[in-house]
Amino acid sequence: VLAGGLAAGGSVGLWHAQLYRESRSWRYKLERALDDNRLTVHYQPIVRLSDESLCGAEALVRLIDFDGSLVPPDQFIPAAETCGFIGRITRSVVRHAFADLRDHFEADPNFYVSINVASDDILSLEFLDFLETEIRSHGLSASQVALELTERSTANQDSLNQAMAAFSRRGYRILIDDFGTGYSNLAYIARMPIAGIKIDRMFTQALDQQAIGAVIVSKVCELAVALEVTLICEGVETKGQADHLVAIHPDICIQGFLIGRPVPAREFSRAFPAGRKV
Ligand code: C2E
Ligand code: CA
Ligand code: CA
Ligand code: CA
Repeated sequence: VLAGGLAAGGSVGLWHAQLYRESRSWRYKLERALDDNRLTVHYQPIVRLSDESLCGAEALVRLIDFDGSLVPPDQFIPAAETCGFIGRITRSVVRHAFADLRDHFEADPNFYVSINVASDDILSLEFLDFLETEIRSHGLSASQVALELTERSTANQDSLNQAMAAFSRRGYRILIDDFGTGYSNLAYIARMPIAGIKIDRMFTQALDQQAIGAVIVSKVCELAVALEVTLICEGVETKGQADHLVAIHPDICIQGFLIGRPVPAREFSRAFPAGRKV
């Protein structure tokens, strides 16, 4: 028993040591990447389903590795959040997006860029100041910027609501990201100062398989109508899903491979030129 206990204790120690090394190596990698400007942003169109007009684009960050390959965000955003680098990453994404999409902002005052933010960003007053300075220097209006916040955030809900209200009072659109995957307290959603809800890909995919998928999506649509917020459906890959969605909610916006994958700015502008009429 004693030997077993010692062995188990030893392996737990090893596991901690490994986690510690990994987080240290991420800290190093992220710091190098930020210092060398090795972040790049891809853009994915968000369109209104009824007429396929372009509403905006989601900015999705990638890290450029030393060999030039792109590291997807799922691999480094969680580490960036724990290492305290998320603020720098978010600000870098904002700067990229404002420069990259400049023609779109200019051609269409309703065009918006959607930025993924962490609760730490929203809770920081500095970030609001930063945005205010950046929109002013780029000649944008706050309504051309959406901030996507996942409902899985662990921050205190009341302080988060207060912080969100400050952004939304200034005119930024707050969107609840990955809606349905967390423990959405519906009573809270009703009190949150949000402009829209993004239904997670998981539910879009469920539209094909089970009747229950369609029930869930139509209930979320009803909720969005009642709250008077816009609705964006993520991960739309097939015409079948789109047909289903337009029947449920004629004013829905969609995002997904059916319309376009996330691509570098230049490709985005080629496929979805600024000011293009439907
Ligand atoms: P998300 O916010 O849910 O973003 C949508 C993800 O789904 C993107 O993955 C996108 O490429 C993918 N996607 C879009 N349409 C489809 C589709 O039709 N089918 C399928 N199968 N996938 C689709 P990506 O770019 O790898 O981003 C993953 C996650 O990383 C994002 O999930 C977001 O949570 C996070 N992320 C990305 N960029 C940023 C950022 O700048 N800051 C922060 N904090 N998080 C970011
Ligand atoms: Ca540094
Ligand atoms: Ca998102
Ligand atoms: Ca999602």
